[in-house]
Amino acid sequence: MKVLIANGKKAEVQRAVDISFWRNWRLFFTLTGPAIDYHTPLAHRGKSFKEFVQEYIIAQFERAILDLGLDKPWYWDYFVETIDYYHHGAQLEIWLVRKTVFWDPSGGVTQAERVWLEEKYPGWNDTWGKMWDVVAENIRNGREDLTIPEALPMLCNICGLSATGTANAGHSCRGYTSDHDGRRYSFCSPVCQWIFAQEPARYADHKSIIDRYVDGEIQPANFEGVLQSFDMAPGEQGKDASNYEWAWEGHEHERDVGIGVAEAA
Ligand SMILES: [Zn+2]
Repeated sequence: MKVLIANGKKAEVQRAVDISFWRNWRLFFTLTGPAIDYHTPLAHRGKSFKEFVQEYIIAQFERAILDLGLDKPWYWDYFVETIDYYHHGAQLEIWLVRKTVFWDPSGGVTQAERVWLEEKYPGWNDTWGKMWDVVAENIRNGREDLTIPEALPMLCNICGLSATGTANAGHSCRGYTSDHDGRRYSFCSPVCQWIFAQEPARYADHKSIIDRYVDGEIQPANFEGVLQSFDMAPGEQGKDASNYEWAWEGHEHERDVGIGVAEAA
């Protein structure tokens, strides 16, 4: 990068950094955010994912690119906003489509964990917490089926992930689309939309799993068809790591009553 910048190619380097930083971010929060904020046992948690990003990515990356003579990516303020909610959406989504993953994801939302989440992300209970409340209520009502999606969300044609915004209060989820050569492409964010616009020919032929689903290439055209296309038999599909233990917290009495009724019947 130094050599290129010294030879008058700053714009090209800047563009490559802007593209690669965002694509890395989209994968990074998906994998690392839930691991730090939901899957690490509470007793072993230190920094939150947000604090980790602020210290090791925002501070260090910013210093490194400014030292090179580059600018912060044009979407920097937007990126900084997303560290508050992207990975909370990823956690909920991975848990909801747990049948499509090869491990057993934990909800990570016991009462104690929710206290920690609210402390690290003020407002978590009013946004993400309310969605987990609905999930927990469905589980207690014996409606596990309502916690399994019947369809999949539209996936971004650049990063392969869905659009994510803050849930409930301050709802901010929206998708972005661009038309190119008679086909409509969907994006998670204005940044992935911009990446596509830089080199449409490079990305135009790729079909996401949702494109294949909509085009009728995946049959049957439902969630079951998607599981079959992944070649995942029931025994290989992920399930809640604690058998929904967290959903009964504070409602143990109802469960004891429910089990008693089932046994009597
Ligand atoms: Zn994207």
